[in-house]
Amino acid sequence: MIKVGVAGYGTIGKRVAEALLKSDDMQLIGVSKTTPDYSAYLAKSKGVKVYAHSKADLTNFEKAGFKVEGTIEDLLSQVDLIVDTSPGKKGVENKPLYEEAGVKMIFQGGEKANIAEVSFNAQANFDQAWGKKIVRVVSCNTTGLSRVLHTIHSNIGVKQAKVVLIRRTCDPKESKGLVNGIQPEMKMPSHHGPDLNTVIPDIKIESLAVVVPTTLMHLHTLLVEFKKETSREQLIDIIKNTRRIILVNGDHGLTSTNRVIELARDIGRLRYDLPEVVMWEDTISVKDGWGYLVYAVHQEAIVQPENIDAIRSMNKLMPKEESIKKTDETLGIVNGYLYK
Ligand code: NAD
Repeated sequence: MIKVGVAGYGTIGKRVAEALLKSDDMQLIGVSKTTPDYSAYLAKSKGVKVYAHSKADLTNFEKAGFKVEGTIEDLLSQVDLIVDTSPGKKGVENKPLYEEAGVKMIFQGGEKANIAEVSFNAQANFDQAWGKKIVRVVSCNTTGLSRVLHTIHSNIGVKQAKVVLIRRTCDPKESKGLVNGIQPEMKMPSHHGPDLNTVIPDIKIESLAVVVPTTLMHLHTLLVEFKKETSREQLIDIIKNTRRIILVNGDHGLTSTNRVIELARDIGRLRYDLPEVVMWEDTISVKDGWGYLVYAVHQEAIVQPENIDAIRSMNKLMPKEESIKKTDETLGIVNGYLYK
């Protein structure tokens, strides 16, 4: 049993914590929080031990009458590994604490790549995290892109890729965000192509991005030039048989991200989570040696399984395929069609 702590208990932290509770080769020792908000009470009510993230935070908990188990140092003294899910750029500030405690650490995509020895995506480079001490699970967009490009690259070969990312403005729980506009990323090409290269260095890729006023999912429009002749049927077959990618169809009424989310609700997914990439089968096309693909990424859920596989690789628990299969079975993650 690998003993794990989670620092930060927001969108990603609560999902990682829940995945740890479900995984029989890992033990969630506790989570650190900065404020005694409702999620601290909910965590406690589920039997999850809550620690104050710092001595200053401890005062907030004491003032609110919320009894914590101690501070982050107390949590770190009991774990083999900490999953940092603090807001972007805060992980780097937390890193010295983890180093002092001598624990393995996982950071998220909001941190720069140089925070870790390896930027990670389970399907693309599980083996590179094998036995490593510091790993960064890449962002939601890079995770989606890595899954799709890795399977095409390993099955067909990718000469080059071009992607336009249509990004959600913020997560549903946020009180900020773009309300009535479309905002281009001012830096073009965007950082997403180089970030993909931290995981799969040998794919030539350019990316552009815009932000739109929606909170549910991101959407990628991807163009891939193949290294060898490939038919639409072959491409669909590859995608259909790739773990963590599901296919949906516009002619079944699933014509937009909001309808995809409704489907997730209808099949009873907790918080309508879709850790899978959701690809429209209708959009998959091949013309003049290029593949055309459009898919959606549920930003809140997609990195949940990646964190679990990263823990297994860093602790040399089991090989890649076994870990991915185990994670998928544990979390109910599927591939292919959700229904016939
Ligand atoms: P969040 O704001 O929902 O949660 C962050 C949590 O950390 C909150 O509970 C907050 O109180 C706590 N916190 C604040 N300051 C802290 C500190 N200094 N140390 C420890 N905890 C602190 O953020 P999130 O969306 O869960 O994002 C976490 C990380 O995951 C970021 O790196 C982000 O870029 C990445 N990520 C986010 C998404 C997404 O869409 N939400 C997707 C993939 C990756």
